Amino acid sequence: MFDLVLGTNNAKKLIELRMMLPEDQIQLSTLSEIPESIDVDETGETFRENAALKACEQAKHLGRWVLAEDSGLSVDALKGEPGVYSARYAGTHGDDEANNDKVLSELEGIPFERRGAQFNCYLCLSDPSGKVRLEDSAICRGVVAEQRSGTAGFGYDPLFIIPEYHRTFGELNLAVKRAISHRSRALRSFIPRLLRLVSDESTT
Ligand code: IMP
Repeated sequence: MFDLVLGTNNAKKLIELRMMLPEDQIQLSTLSEIPESIDVDETGETFRENAALKACEQAKHLGRWVLAEDSGLSVDALKGEPGVYSARYAGTHGDDEANNDKVLSELEGIPFERRGAQFNCYLCLSDPSGKVRLEDSAICRGVVAEQRSGTAGFGYDPLFIIPEYHRTFGELNLAVKRAISHRSRALRSFIPRLLRLVSDESTT
């Protein structure tokens, strides 16, 4: 089995990643199971840079293959904010409630047709030496609601309306998110490439 560490501490992201990765072919470990794992500072200016930092620094440190993911919300009317600062937009890392409040207040008075936004997801796979071996990315377009709806998911899900469904990700079940989200789309393109790499690695 190919040994792969998932380089994120976000429990909700881990659920979404685990749901799609083929665990019959890949042995997945999470950072919480590895006491010697490190916290990697997300000092990059782009999702891609941060995904690469999280994958390569952790991989080099552990001497293992690491798949990292960086994602976030980019709101058109806010010139792409919160962007790479999505997890800490209101100041405290991971304070979803405060982050949602800040997005709502920044968009106060802006009409529905100008509330377009997208979730971005970048995936990066590093080999044990810290070298990037695969990358992928995807987006999911939507509209920022004027108030929260629903409790499913995490982060900005209660604010993110999928126009085709007239519902937020907070109201839609995980199966729909699995079909259309930025993370799922990136994974769908990434997984066949990962499996080819796994097969090549096992024959070398
Ligand atoms: P990261 O851990 O730096 O990649 O932070 C990602 C942040 O972006 C999360 O804390 C959420 O605020 C937001 N985010 C990313 N993906 C999603 C999603 O699928 N739904 C809602 N919020 C998300």
